[in-house]
Amino acid sequence: MESLELIRDFVNTADLEDGEEKLADARALQYWLVFHGLAELSHRATGAELEEALALREALRELLRSHTGVEADTDGASAVLDEIAAERGLRIRFVSGSVSFDAGGALGGVLAAVASAMADGSWERLKACRSDTCRWAFIDNARNHSRQWCDMKVCGNRAKARAFRERHSG
Ligand SMILES: [Zn+2]
Repeated sequence: MESLELIRDFVNTADLEDGEEKLADARALQYWLVFHGLAELSHRATGAELEEALALREALRELLRSHTGVEADTDGASAVLDEIAAERGLRIRFVSGSVSFDAGGALGGVLAAVASAMADGSWERLKACRSDTCRWAFIDNARNHSRQWCDMKVCGNRAKARAFRERHSG
């Protein structure tokens, strides 16, 4: 669960609808990583790390979109994760009869969280809103895991209204 929350917060550092970018520069990334316990205070994020973070974030968003049945580029997104995993030396660890993951660097912490969510089966419950303009990440806690919108009142209703308009136009 902690893994899902971390990944959700990471993906939601960009609000596509409001155009708000929390990771606007390397310093902002550094604050985010320290705040989430992924880096020491002394960590200095570089421009290259920021670039990697943004690529990782958008690849994750793409994967999360596929969890609501949207046709997403899961191959391309997986390749991005795979490359970063190789670079960061993602390792599988076996401790006390269970599996865990670790990887170098602050972003390695995000990647390790993805790996453990995939391993424990909670991954499918992390989704990106089906609305094309929204794509906000959320954790689906509904019993049948059928949620498709970040907020039924906002994106869900908007989609319903659009479908209604399309049905009744011409
Ligand atoms: Zn939404």
